[in-house]
Amino acid sequence: MGIKIPVVELFGNTIQGEGALVGTPAVFVRVFGCNLNCRGFGMPKGELSNEADEIIASPEFAAAKELKDLPLAKTGCDSYPAIHPACMRFCKMYTPDELADEILKASNFKPRLVVFTGGEPLLRQKDLAEVISVLYNTYHFHDFMFETNGTLGWNQHWLTENAPHDFNLWFSISPKLSTSGNPRTLAINRDAVHSLLETSPDKTYLKFVADENTPVDEIVNTVAHFQFGTVYTIPVYLMPEGGVLDERSRKNAQYVADLCWKLGYRFSPREHLTVYGNAWAK
Ligand code: SF4
Repeated sequence: MGIKIPVVELFGNTIQGEGALVGTPAVFVRVFGCNLNCRGFGMPKGELSNEADEIIASPEFAAAKELKDLPLAKTGCDSYPAIHPACMRFCKMYTPDELADEILKASNFKPRLVVFTGGEPLLRQKDLAEVISVLYNTYHFHDFMFETNGTLGWNQHWLTENAPHDFNLWFSISPKLSTSGNPRTLAINRDAVHSLLETSPDKTYLKFVADENTPVDEIVNTVAHFQFGTVYTIPVYLMPEGGVLDERSRKNAQYVADLCWKLGYRFSPREHLTVYGNAWAK
């Protein structure tokens, strides 16, 4: 039996709400598995969230039949079903050919932007490269994006073996800062970012989620760490933190827009929230 790719969510009929391709109709594929565990998000400095463990120990979790039955987490990793082993039961397993077929169906049989997210989808890059090859060679899809934490490089070999490299391969890198609770030695990998830039020099960018508690110096230092002389210029996006639209999120968006003005970065909205609200599969 061939390799199977564990997929937590797969859905179309939506838009890419963030980053450089905001507003683009897209199919999302959330792949299970991550090499980090961001338990620090939303927590007081130095503390780690147990919210995902508490959800998993709850009767609600035991009774949940599908992903949409699970509560959203307010602290820690907001994609916890994509990283917690107990959530593997919500995954569907696909061979690369099967996954390409499911993406084709979710795209309503038209070539669309395909966003691989997670978890950390680059953990599965060899298998996903096969999916890309099928979608490109057989179904004429041209636009692919990996939403990655920036800790893993891209092995260009996977694609050049299977497809001519004249499609658009995007890397949206969201480096995890100290607020994530991960040690910097694990979360920040200059060689990995260099590899992604080498693969797609004009389609790779950094994206940081920010609010008033975000250490701005750390963002600036991390961006500087990812400069590679004059060879590559990497665009930087700041995106307001927040899963609901309210007065607080509006103020935070203004704060982040001011930061972008001061630092010369770009502002990323979260348009899927405006359009769909905060929910699984949107
Ligand atoms: S890198 Fe992303 S998916 Fe992985 S633990 Fe952190 S927030 Fe969750």
